[in-house]
Amino acid sequence: MERNTNQPKTLQDAVIYFANPDNALAYMTVLRWPDGVVTCPTCGRKDVKFLHNQRKWQCKSTHAKRQFSAKVGTIFEDSPIPLEKWLVVVWMISNCRNGVSSYEVARAIGVTQKSAWFMLHRIRLGLQSDLVAKLGGDSGPVEADETFIGGKVKNMHAEKKARYFKRGGAFGKTIVMGFLDREARAVRAKVIPNVKRETLQAEVMAHVDKEAKLYTDNAPAYDGLRARFVHEVVDHVQTYVRGQVHTNGIEHFWSLLKRTLSGTYVAVEPFHLDRYLDEQMFRFNNRKDGNRKINDSERFDIAMSQVLGKRLS
Ligand SMILES: [Zn+2]
Repeated sequence: MERNTNQPKTLQDAVIYFANPDNALAYMTVLRWPDGVVTCPTCGRKDVKFLHNQRKWQCKSTHAKRQFSAKVGTIFEDSPIPLEKWLVVVWMISNCRNGVSSYEVARAIGVTQKSAWFMLHRIRLGLQSDLVAKLGGDSGPVEADETFIGGKVKNMHAEKKARYFKRGGAFGKTIVMGFLDREARAVRAKVIPNVKRETLQAEVMAHVDKEAKLYTDNAPAYDGLRARFVHEVVDHVQTYVRGQVHTNGIEHFWSLLKRTLSGTYVAVEPFHLDRYLDEQMFRFNNRKDGNRKINDSERFDIAMSQVLGKRLS
């Protein structure tokens, strides 16, 4: 089956296009069964019957779950919210650069704020990135840095700041560690419990290839990594940048993240911050393919295929 070339290009298009349940179903069907053969998810039979009125299929064999919708086996399956609405929310999350709030979603698709919050949360889980492969293979440069969410460490007096870091605590703030693989243009970020040396270095070991060039700031917690990596350190007191040795890329990601969090997500529980990171990483990591800009329609497709690859228990 051919990909529909009338696919929406903007949020407004998407809202209109997917409001038609036939369009939503056609989109989902192509994505789930690319060869056009709808298959019974229970027994694998390929001669299933389409029930027009219900927009469902029915298997010709007699077994439990004989009738199935395009939502079966996906993160949308057990939700009473129709596919048309889910697709619009996936569009919003994949393309709204500064994130979307549950209030905006509630208004856009006509559900309660609580339902919208649940939908956003579930889609974010579906967008969770693979944290297994290491960054910076082929000796590529990787920037590593950590940041504090919810506090004003930046404005602290230097002495207080030093004490604060020495204690390794965050006074109720959430700490996020991040890596940017410059060649792959990919960011990976996660919540960490503290900024102690063993914590930061364990994260570096877990996520950075031993062949990589590693760039960090001069926090003492990164001392000693030279034994394992080509490790160069940025001194933020110096105003100039030493060639390639900087952490500007990951710092740019932090500024986008903070803009999103302060503008959209009024109060983020530390417990949920990893989900917001998944969302921010998804948009950041899917903004370019080599030097070509990925457009909204393509990014939506990428999000949908990622979301469909997962099933939540
Ligand atoms: Zn069957």
